[in-house]
Amino acid sequence: MKIGVIGGGQLGRMLALAGTPLGMNFAFLDPAPDACAAALGEHLRADYGDQDHLRQLADEVDLVTFEFESVPAETVAFLSQFVPVYPSAEALRIARDRWFEKSMFKDLGIPTPAFADIQSQADLDAAVASIGLPAVLKTRTLGYDGKGQKVLRTAADVEGTFAELGSVACLLEGFVPFTGEVSLIAVRGRDGEVCFYPLVHNTHDNGILRLSVASTAHPLQALAEDYAGRVLKQLDYVGVLAFEFFEVDGGLKANEIAPRVHNSGHWTTEGAECSQFENHLRAIAGLPLGSTAKVGESAMLNFIGSVPPVEQVIAIADCHLHHYGKAFKNGRKVGHATLRCADQATLQAQILRVEALIEG
Ligand code: AMP
Repeated sequence: MKIGVIGGGQLGRMLALAGTPLGMNFAFLDPAPDACAAALGEHLRADYGDQDHLRQLADEVDLVTFEFESVPAETVAFLSQFVPVYPSAEALRIARDRWFEKSMFKDLGIPTPAFADIQSQADLDAAVASIGLPAVLKTRTLGYDGKGQKVLRTAADVEGTFAELGSVACLLEGFVPFTGEVSLIAVRGRDGEVCFYPLVHNTHDNGILRLSVASTAHPLQALAEDYAGRVLKQLDYVGVLAFEFFEVDGGLKANEIAPRVHNSGHWTTEGAECSQFENHLRAIAGLPLGSTAKVGESAMLNFIGSVPPVEQVIAIADCHLHHYGKAFKNGRKVGHATLRCADQATLQAQILRVEALIEG
């Protein structure tokens, strides 16, 4: 079976690493000459709107998936005429726009911060008056890793901020005084079968994920599964979906969903029976899903900007290096380490060792 992937970054690369043992081949469509997934499959180097190359991809592969959600709607619509596309155009439409996403949470009775659609500075002023400060202004589309958003704490922060974010459609959200951030990686097959991984505790720095730790018997697991299950059903979703939540007042508030494999699920490569990457491929290919059970205690630490010396990373017991083969650049995710340990105490000690390496 040949899988077409829109985007050729590290997520595409890790999908290919998981799918190759299943006998799958891969083709990646990505305009970047140095797309890091290209080492593991065919690279169609073209813009996402290039219909000649999209048609070539559709002719060559059995189905198409995505490694990022900001794919132009026309690209998805065009491909869908010729080849099955998972997740669907509708799932992407909702997930890549914070207004559609939060409106869906509200419609499905899933708690989420207060929010308002912002099309102008006047809209922003009115929304701040009703939602209050602090609040967070985010572009509706194309934001990632903390980009395209600003925390508003005082009236001075509000002035001129719509223009500062590019005068594009935005969403204002009430600031959530969360006690923690967790994510749930869910997978749904073409036949509607659903599986969930254990909730993951996430730590961000400047909006970029630094550390994910897989939980054991988290008290909010069932609630998170209930919320995610509603979304999967609503979207008739196929593939892996990541659901990010704020932990607040002993419950959960939905932050966002990602219609793809997710950074907070990277630990599953060594830390679960079947990784998120393999399960995404199983789901879209109509194969039986694999077990999402944890194997030992597991965590993931991102390497941002640079990867520490390889020999030092792999010298740490229980540590598995994932080097993306990308050029090092400030703020860019260029690799990660997964830890899989026998118990929590060892895991915490090994996290400190990897963090010490990162800090140099
Ligand atoms: P996002 O791109 O929406 O996932 O936001 C990136 C990070 O900013 C989140 O992981 C939180 O740490 C923080 N953040 C986003 N929205 C809010 C909010 N409404 N209240 C508090 N913190 C937030």
